[in-house]
Amino acid sequence: MDHSFPEVSPKVANGHDKAHAAPLAAHLEYGGKHGLGRHGAPHSSPLESLPRRRPTREEAEQAIRTLIRWAGDDPEREGLLETPARVARAYEEFFAGYSIDPRQLLEKTFEETGGYHDMVLIRDIALNSHCEHHMVPIVGKVHLAYLPEKRVVGISKLARVVDAFGRRLQIQEKLTVEIAETIQDVLRPRGVAVVVEAAHECMTTRGVKKPDSVTVTRWMTGAFRDSNELRAEFLQLIRG
Ligand SMILES: [Zn+2]
Repeated sequence: MDHSFPEVSPKVANGHDKAHAAPLAAHLEYGGKHGLGRHGAPHSSPLESLPRRRPTREEAEQAIRTLIRWAGDDPEREGLLETPARVARAYEEFFAGYSIDPRQLLEKTFEETGGYHDMVLIRDIALNSHCEHHMVPIVGKVHLAYLPEKRVVGISKLARVVDAFGRRLQIQEKLTVEIAETIQDVLRPRGVAVVVEAAHECMTTRGVKKPDSVTVTRWMTGAFRDSNELRAEFLQLIRG
C-alpha cells in the first residue's frame, strides 16, 4: 500500500495540480501511468499532473458556459442546458486530427502497381477545418496529386491525411504545406502537388464580410515544382 499517494476528487483538481506539481518523481515511482487512480479519480497520472495536462470534459463544459454568459445569454435556461455537452462532443470531432498520426496513415503501401507510374490525382476532397485565429470554420476542397515511384498508397489514405491535418486549428498556408510535405516525406514519390480552395468564415461572416471570397493556396514538390508542363497539366485536371 502506498499511503503517500494523494487522493483527489475532480473538484479540487486545480489546487491539487499546483500543490503537487513538484513531486512528479513520486508519482512516477507510484507507476500510476494509465489514467485513473485507486478510486477512479482522474488527474492521478504523472502526465496529467504537469501544468499542460489536458483539461477534463467538465472543465471544457464549464468554459463553454462562460462563453455563453459572455455572449449575453443564460446557460441555465432550458434550450442551453445541454449545449456545453454538445459543444464538447462537437469539438472532439472538429479536432480529432490531434490524435491521428498522418505519417502512420501512409506507411502501408503497395508495390504491385501493374507498371503504373503516371500521375495519381484526387480532386474535390472535402475540407473541414478551423481557423486558428478565430476558431471558426474553414470549409473547402483539397485537390492533390502525386507521381508514384515504384509504390502506391491506398487512395482513401490520402483523403485521411487531409482530415488528420484539417481537423486541427489551422491556417490554410500551413495546412497546404503539411499535406504535401508529409506525402512527399513518407511516400517518397517523384513529386506531390496540393491545391486548397476554401472559404474562411472569419472573413465571410465577420470582419471584412466578403461572403463569396475563396482563398487558394498551393504547394508543389519534386517534379511538380520543377516542370512547368506537369504543373500546368495538374492545374488543368483539377478544373475537371
Ligand atoms: Zn480567422
